Amino acid sequence: MTTGSREELTPKEVVLEGIGVSPGVGIGPAFILSDDKEQPVERAIIDRDVPREIARFEEAIMTTRHQIKEIQEGLTDAIGQTDASILDAHLMVLDDRSFIEDVIVGLKKQLKNVETVVRLVAKKYADALSKVDDEYLRERAADIKDVARRILRNLHGDTYDLSVVLEHKSLVVARDLAPSEIAALRNDRVVGIATDLGSRTSHTAIMARSLEIPAVMALRDVSTRVFSGDQVLIDGNKGLLIISPTEERLQAYGQVVKAREHIRSELAGLRDEPAETKDGHRIVLSANIELPDDVDAALEHGANGVGLFRSEYLYLTREVLPSEDEQARAYGEVARRFESKPVIIRTLDLGGDKIGTAFQIPRERNPFMGWRAIRFCLSHPAIFKTQLKAILRASHEGNVKLMYPMITSVEEVVDANAILEEAKAELSAAGVPFDGGMEVGVMIETPSAALTADTIAPHVNFFSLGSNDLIQYTLAVDRGNEQIANLYKPTHPAIIKLIQHTIDVGHQYGIWVGLCGEMAADPLLTPLLLGLKIDELSVTPPALPMVKDAIRSLDYPAAQELAAAALSGKSAEHVIDLCRETIARTAPEILELVR
Ligand code: PEP
Ligand code: MG
Repeated sequence: MTTGSREELTPKEVVLEGIGVSPGVGIGPAFILSDDKEQPVERAIIDRDVPREIARFEEAIMTTRHQIKEIQEGLTDAIGQTDASILDAHLMVLDDRSFIEDVIVGLKKQLKNVETVVRLVAKKYADALSKVDDEYLRERAADIKDVARRILRNLHGDTYDLSVVLEHKSLVVARDLAPSEIAALRNDRVVGIATDLGSRTSHTAIMARSLEIPAVMALRDVSTRVFSGDQVLIDGNKGLLIISPTEERLQAYGQVVKAREHIRSELAGLRDEPAETKDGHRIVLSANIELPDDVDAALEHGANGVGLFRSEYLYLTREVLPSEDEQARAYGEVARRFESKPVIIRTLDLGGDKIGTAFQIPRERNPFMGWRAIRFCLSHPAIFKTQLKAILRASHEGNVKLMYPMITSVEEVVDANAILEEAKAELSAAGVPFDGGMEVGVMIETPSAALTADTIAPHVNFFSLGSNDLIQYTLAVDRGNEQIANLYKPTHPAIIKLIQHTIDVGHQYGIWVGLCGEMAADPLLTPLLLGLKIDELSVTPPALPMVKDAIRSLDYPAAQELAAAALSGKSAEHVIDLCRETIARTAPEILELVR
């Protein structure tokens, strides 16, 4: 590793090592994204701008009031009037004349943009309240901060929109990024992402892969080492970030990119070919999508359907919950575009690292083991039923299937199915059409669900293995923690045994078994999963051609032999070596893309 000093006139190349989480090479000037997205850019204004800033402030106040009222109504339905009244305190802040007057006076006196003034006034109030010797008033400090954050977000627009902040193509460098924030990176000015924290199966990393933005995480202190405007190169395959790359380095990478593009364009030719082995064993190869916009990429790469629609992204970037109509439109659009091909919509998987601003979820000490997914839905039946009705309505428009996330026992499946039946009855009573035979499945992503798959199978039509969570819960390794990323081993013998057990039980009960975690998108693991008799693989759209190539280059009996050897193998490393050797023999071009 080389190091360099900033004092030198000609910048020296500096190489930092992290974890490559989204393949590809990104080159561009760095843009350092502040840790505090609510920390507005401070701008001076002139007298003439004051009325415009006041008008923006008033509009943001109105929008904020409307949003809080909507959230309150949703909460009243879900948790009752008494608990929902906690938001009255937020509405009171918005009606507080002295707060509003202070902002207006501050604008005139300080001649700064309204974002800056709101932040300063809110801070003044919150600081004063937090020092008061009265618990009730001290708690109001948190309300003021919360409301100010909402006002600031509304001043920025719906989300923190990088297309506004980024003037030209840039490589975004941050300490950390939340999955809801990466949704705002959906624009062609972002040529790469580099963060101090994070790991391969964090939802932010998964999103970067699906957006085809090269990304390197776990770079420790990159956000303080790189300055905005520094020329930076990232290698998302090897997990490198290079500050001020040399001319030779740039040329070498130019060659690598060219060679990979050539292979990719060859693989694109497989788009309409079936996902079947050389000897004719066919599986379903589907795409994982986060938002309806991802359908284009999925179809372009030849997806056989959608194996996982992470519906929570419809909620994550929003200040208010999406209505039944809005959800029905979004799901229906995806279902129509896939015509008769299956579209599996996963019900809200909120919590863990996916927290939306529309929900009042308290900070948890162990969020991945906390109030997540089906647990949250079963305790908010009104929110859950709204989604179930929207999914049922979409089932009339195509081949829709539904699945529940984070199941740990059969009781949860029974309870969820009961709410589904209520949703069906209500739609029927209202004369709304839906597919009465819509398939219902569960994600097998906890060891308890895998080990009790025989009790769950009679209640569902399919299983979909969620290896991302299954690995984290089985090996006790937080999927987003870079410090222990070396312990996150998809080919650990315990994982292979749980996958095999789930597939065998599913088949005994006559239901199909898929896998939609990131293991499915790693072409090196395709021989193993095929050999374990998986029926469906669902992967991020850009990985579709590689995985299809891997499937088409294999013989089914050879894959089964490999799986048998893996099952008797003693170490994760041994299994990965077996897989790599197989792919090196059958589809060596893939190695060029993954290393
Ligand atoms: C999984 O856990 O493998 C999965 C597909 O779900 P998510 O990554 O959204 O948790
Ligand atoms: Mg999961």
